[in-house]
Amino acid sequence: MRKFWGLFSILLLAAGVRAQIRNLKPGFNLFSPQQDIQLGQEAKAQVEKQQQILNDSRVTGYLTQLGQKLAQSPRAGTFPFSFEVVKDKNINAFALPGGPVFVNTATFVAAQNEAQLVGVLAHEMSHVALRHGTHEASKGQAVQLIAGLAGSATGGGMLGTLARAGIGLGANSVLLHYSRDAESQADYNGALVMADAGYDPVQMANFFQLLETKNSEGLVAQFLSDHPTPGNRVRAVEQEVQSMPQRNYMTDSLQFQNVRAIVQGISPR
Ligand SMILES: [Zn+2]
Repeated sequence: MRKFWGLFSILLLAAGVRAQIRNLKPGFNLFSPQQDIQLGQEAKAQVEKQQQILNDSRVTGYLTQLGQKLAQSPRAGTFPFSFEVVKDKNINAFALPGGPVFVNTATFVAAQNEAQLVGVLAHEMSHVALRHGTHEASKGQAVQLIAGLAGSATGGGMLGTLARAGIGLGANSVLLHYSRDAESQADYNGALVMADAGYDPVQMANFFQLLETKNSEGLVAQFLSDHPTPGNRVRAVEQEVQSMPQRNYMTDSLQFQNVRAIVQGISPR
């Protein structure tokens, strides 16, 4: 009997560890989900002023359609996502807390198929769902933030609160700069989001791999710095896919190739 209980507890422990990996939960966070949204909206207005936003419904409409498909996955959380395209020759994509996602035109051109573009979206949306941006900000600046965030509940801008805690929005902002653990989580969660929408999750890992080989041109530096590789990305995602039910995944579409051709014709900044 004792042997039985011993084995039983080992099985429970193993199941517990697996459940911990599969049930990804947002980490330590001083912000409320509502504050994630408020911060994201303020930061989005700033990005729209500073960056050259593409105003072409054929491209933005297509990106939004892909994003909304992914947002239906329960793994994408409940934040109000929005999708915009930035005219920029650097391959980059970033997501602000609470939902705004931006993808550079160069990312459309670098992607070999629709599933790779979808992979970037699923990965970014996972950072939002798991609240990695405000998690990072909470870790570093706890003392200054606690008072500020409590104060901002009674009014005043979130960006101001963050600035007073020494957190900016510019290049290498802590809100957009993730740890390797956060990367693994966004890959894992992003793969599930992709699979829910019927896309081959391995394409996300393939795209990140592709970016590392392209980095010599210096046009991927910001993305790779914000999303440091956790190592063995492709293999980790492949292993994850093996544990999912077998299905026929979609990789490309004629619409992607058409939109990519439109983007290719837009002169980058
Ligand atoms: Zn990432």
